[in-house]
Amino acid sequence: MRQRNKPWADDFLRENSDLVIPNPDQYKSKWHELFGNDNPIHVEIGTGKGQFIVGMAKQFPNINFIGIELAKSVIVTAAQKVQESEQTNIKLIQENAENLNEIFATNEVSTVYLNFSDPWPKNRHEKRRLTSHSFLERYENILHPEGQLIFKTDNRGLFEYSLVSFSRFGMLLEEVSLDLHQLADPTNIMTEYEEKFSAKGQPIHRCKAVFRGE
Ligand code: SAM
Repeated sequence: MRQRNKPWADDFLRENSDLVIPNPDQYKSKWHELFGNDNPIHVEIGTGKGQFIVGMAKQFPNINFIGIELAKSVIVTAAQKVQESEQTNIKLIQENAENLNEIFATNEVSTVYLNFSDPWPKNRHEKRRLTSHSFLERYENILHPEGQLIFKTDNRGLFEYSLVSFSRFGMLLEEVSLDLHQLADPTNIMTEYEEKFSAKGQPIHRCKAVFRGE
């Protein structure tokens, strides 16, 4: 994700602390109270500029969406998009997903979305991939027993790596598509990267997986 220096970002984040939540660990096990309802919580990791989360929140008004994005200069764009949409079922967090277990309690989340995560192709960077073992441990911890992990990417190498990683972890694969757009899933909301890569003719891969498959 291209990042531009945005000198106004700090002021923007301070002024919009009801949307981009500072110190999110204070809401651990209390996210329902912040939203003011008991609707399920879905978390997107690496939200980027926010097109997916806004589209999903419009499509599913009875789900609470939380977007986690590391880059300050990117999350402010997502926040502006959320404001324009006037959706009240979205909150954003500027954090590293490494800290997920400090932010969410066990079983607090119903779905985790990973969309076009950075591939980190070098072997020595494997631990940074958001589908590596230590991240799966974090997702398993915060996800409800019936909760799903939904992963989309254009990157075939990362997709193959992730399927093996899920399988080694003992996860059950509920859907594997090598060309998502051929499925013509009417509920699919495209991310910014998804639009860019599919416009170039690249197939989009999607996997839906669960941790406990009784
Ligand atoms: N999901 C968006 C899309 O599909 O258009 C953005 C994809 S971009 C390739 C990956 C995004 O993930 C970047 O905005 C990056 O800052 C964010 N990211 C990478 N590692 C992260 C981490 N450990 N925690 C939170 N966000 C992360």
